[in-house]
Amino acid sequence: MPTFQNSPTGQVLDLCDKRFLIDCGEGVQITMRRMGLRTARMYCVFISHLHGDHCFGLMGLISTLDMLGRTQPLHIYAHSQLEKLLRPMLDFHLPEPRYEIVFHSINPRKREVIFSDRTVTVETIPLRHKVPTCGFLFYEHYRRYNEQTQTFYYETRKRYAYCSDTQYTESILEQIEGVETLFHESTYLEQDAFRCKTTMHSTARQAGTIALKAKAGQLIIGHYSSRIDDHTLFLDEAQTVFPATRMAVEGETYPL
Ligand SMILES: [Zn+2]
Ligand SMILES: [Zn+2]
Repeated sequence: MPTFQNSPTGQVLDLCDKRFLIDCGEGVQITMRRMGLRTARMYCVFISHLHGDHCFGLMGLISTLDMLGRTQPLHIYAHSQLEKLLRPMLDFHLPEPRYEIVFHSINPRKREVIFSDRTVTVETIPLRHKVPTCGFLFYEHYRRYNEQTQTFYYETRKRYAYCSDTQYTESILEQIEGVETLFHESTYLEQDAFRCKTTMHSTARQAGTIALKAKAGQLIIGHYSSRIDDHTLFLDEAQTVFPATRMAVEGETYPL
């Protein structure tokens, strides 16, 4: 639920001078503006699943980009249902958009590469949630030339794994092993762990456990339940398992 303290989910990832938007909850465009992030530089949008707190901000953002005179296409990677849901609104509000809106349908149940260019590759991370959901693994790579074999190869630099929303699942460990930065949702505290079963979310302690088992470099937690106002409680709980945890705070920037 949006609160005065926190808007729903939205992250901007800056990788290789490209900006990727991950999830687009209500109000994301306002937060971006407040942070001085120019939406014009936005490259692609990745939507993890179709719960409102992850996609209700998309229609407003698409409309604003048109008003701002965007001409370059906007690529949206999401479950195929998103296009079906948005299409009637797009036809009504933006019958003649100034830029192309390209929907790329992804299968959240399958681990696969959904985006790749010269410097960045994005893979889906299948998660366990009430509706088909996947996280995203971003990695930065550079093309290098091997003099001896006279072939090109890719050298991986930084990786960022985004895992929201999900129940605790060790099925993701192999894919995210050794990742430099992991975002893992922590909707509840252990005291409310019973809620995880019905809503299919994780506790802060579980997020810490995943980071520990995956041997992640650092963990960022977020997606806090609006029942708890003091977010340091989530941080304390995750740090008991994984000390290199940081707490997502709206408007903050985190180096990878
Ligand atoms: Zn959800
Ligand atoms: Zn959510």
